[in-house]
Formats: sequence, structure tokens, C-alpha cells
Amino acid sequence: MILQTQCNKCSKLIRFHSFATDRFELSNFKKIKQLDLKCKKCGSEDKYDINKIYSKFKLIKLISVSMMLTYFILLIIITPRYFDKIWELPSLGIVVLASLLLSPFVIFIMINHNIETSQRRFNSSRL
Ligand SMILES: [Zn+2]
Repeated sequence: MILQTQCNKCSKLIRFHSFATDRFELSNFKKIKQLDLKCKKCGSEDKYDINKIYSKFKLIKLISVSMMLTYFILLIIITPRYFDKIWELPSLGIVVLASLLLSPFVIFIMINHNIETSQRRFNSSRL
């Protein structure tokens, strides 16, 4: 998960990656309230309040939305060519085809839901 906070000196965002699922984990289970971070913009190192570190990164959401759009456009382009053949399929075939076509959407929704849940969990945790 990408975590972020604001630099004490230049006010730019400091972003870093962590596998911590909440703030207690981020403190390495030691209940320390501050974390040493270095700003990539101005190079200053400082201690940051763990309660002021948030997970707000939306890049994965952006990627999955654009992937979904690409998939949807491909579906619109490809489907009409085989449309006549779809009706020749047995009903079980149509069900299988429909679930194959819809499964990427379900996966995208599940991934997004997982990200949102873990972000909410991190942001609502307190030390
Ligand atoms: Zn800075």
C-alpha cells in the first residue's frame, strides 16, 4: 500500500510503500508514535507523526478503470463478428461465455474493493 504524508519543510507529499495494514503495524508493533522519513523533494529528514500518515493513493484504481474501459471497447468491437454464432451455442455455452466475458469486471471490482477496504482500515486505525 502506498502511504503518504506532508513534508514538514517544503509541504510536498512524501510517498512510500509499506506492507503495514494499519498504523500499529507501521510502528513495527512498538507503539512508537513517530516515523523517520526523508523527503525526496527537499532532502530533509524528519520525524513524522504516524497518525498523520494516510493511504490515499488512487493509481491502482485508475489503472483498473482504464483496463475496464479498454476491455469494454474490445468487447464492443469483437462481439458483433461472432454475434450470429452465439445463438447457435447451447444455453450452457451462453452461460459459460457470459461468465467468461464478465469475469474481468468481477475481478476488477473485487480488487478495487480490497484496496478500498485496506485503505479505510489503515486510515481509521490510531496509535
Ligand atoms: Zn520536503
